[in-house]
Amino acid sequence: MERILVSACLMGRRVRYDGGAKTSSDERLAAWLREGRLVPFCPEVAGGLAIPRPAAEIEGGAGGAAVLAGAARVMAADGSDVTAEFLAGARAALAAARACGARLAVLKEGSPSCGALAIYDGTFTGRRAPGQGVTTALLEGDGIRVFTEDHVDAAAAYLRTLET
Ligand code: SF4
Repeated sequence: MERILVSACLMGRRVRYDGGAKTSSDERLAAWLREGRLVPFCPEVAGGLAIPRPAAEIEGGAGGAAVLAGAARVMAADGSDVTAEFLAGARAALAAARACGARLAVLKEGSPSCGALAIYDGTFTGRRAPGQGVTTALLEGDGIRVFTEDHVDAAAAYLRTLET
């Protein structure tokens, strides 16, 4: 059975920077959970960050690949550099995916770790820009397909291609 890495906050775990969750009501995620497919994971907590913690954004909205390449930092709203924690969390997520053989993931859109299509632009003003989070960039670089919680239908279609 194909396993699927999933952002822990989507599964109701209170791991977000504000101490809350972003529980998804998607029926397919619920079914996959019942089937034992899902591997809930929070890269930021795995990387050593606390709950709650200051919001963080990638400098200049540069995207996860730039962070992985050492060309951009992840900064917290209090001015601290949390790049090392984000990199550690991304590596831990990749290790978790490899450990269970996951070839796809459903991750929380907009996050500087988990975003797949959009992240915040680094100004802490609530503006989004196209781009990926650090964990998403590392997973996709390793061939693991990342879908957002708004595109579970596409994840389900990809899952079918893996299982046929
Ligand atoms: Fe959710 Fe990912 Fe942020 Fe953790 S790092 S709270 S899993 S979006």
